[in-house]
Amino acid sequence: EAKSNGYKKVVYYERYMSQSYNEIHVLENELKFAISRNELQLVYQPKVSITTGEIVGAEALVRWEHPTMGTISPIKFIPTAETTGLIYSLGSWVLEESCKKRQEWVERGFVDLKISVNISALQFKEEYFIPIIDQVLNETRLDPSNLEIELTESALHDEQQAKKLLKILEGKKITVSIDDFGTGYSSLSYLQSLPIDTLKIDRSFIKDIETNDKSYKLLESIVSMAHSLNLNVIAEGVETKLQLLMLKEMGCNEIQGYFLSKPLYEAELLHFIKTYKRDKILDLYSKVGKG
Ligand code: C2E
Ligand code: MG
Ligand code: MG
Ligand code: MG
Repeated sequence: EAKSNGYKKVVYYERYMSQSYNEIHVLENELKFAISRNELQLVYQPKVSITTGEIVGAEALVRWEHPTMGTISPIKFIPTAETTGLIYSLGSWVLEESCKKRQEWVERGFVDLKISVNISALQFKEEYFIPIIDQVLNETRLDPSNLEIELTESALHDEQQAKKLLKILEGKKITVSIDDFGTGYSSLSYLQSLPIDTLKIDRSFIKDIETNDKSYKLLESIVSMAHSLNLNVIAEGVETKLQLLMLKEMGCNEIQGYFLSKPLYEAELLHFIKTYKRDKILDLYSKVGKG
């Protein structure tokens, strides 16, 4: 209890530093009504396999379209949702909406992609998390192996609790990815004790690989460590062709980032999928091969 209070204080302090008191107050009051007023929206960012060039999945990212304040970034309102407890209903809405949409796309004949959903550490540890997952899977008839949850390392701090929950997800064949991997300042021991499928390497490790040899070597080592532990590796925030080629060289499995596409509204995503050709990626390799 003391720990969670401390956490809240730290979060509050950090927000106080970056946003004015008034701004936070307005966000808190308005966020309460965001769901019922249909102001939340999802955008989706495609993920592509580096080896096959195929679209393998999409990550759902929430947006708040406020009638007067405009589009508000989750970086601003997720922390507010967490301190006010609104994260539980917001998180459930995101989960249900993204699974529903994914099923609609398949019914309409689009590729059979995996949907990834960000789950806040608080949401993950809440007692209704697993029942809510079950309810959403039931309602949407989504095959659990087509659902991936993205957790940050902060969700794993209580390793025993995390193990219990992750084993339940594993039993259901839901895959788990560690988001922003490498930025959580946590011990790496969980990698050998917890059932995790994918490491999603934080953008900060990708950013400088073109120009900084140490950054390149660090990333190369992370990819190699992950593979020796039988973990799948995805790089987030890939913005250039050269970054993609370097990641291919390292044996990274998948990429996500502006190089491929920014997060897209549903109609844009469906258009992207319809017009996408895996040769967009594969041609880059043959051009390199020809020198
Ligand atoms: P994240 O899950 O690590 O998502 C990646 C963020 O990087 C997204 O920001 C995405 O738009 C951005 N991004 C993607 N590709 C690139 C790139 O090539 N370059 C750069 N510079 N940025 C890129 P976004 O959508 O603003 O989301 C920020 C964070 O908010 C997310 O980080 C996630 O932690 C949180 N978030 C978003 N949606 C949800 C949600 O539904 N639930 C929860 N709990 N958190 C969410
Ligand atoms: Mg994520
Ligand atoms: Mg991330
Ligand atoms: Mg991030």
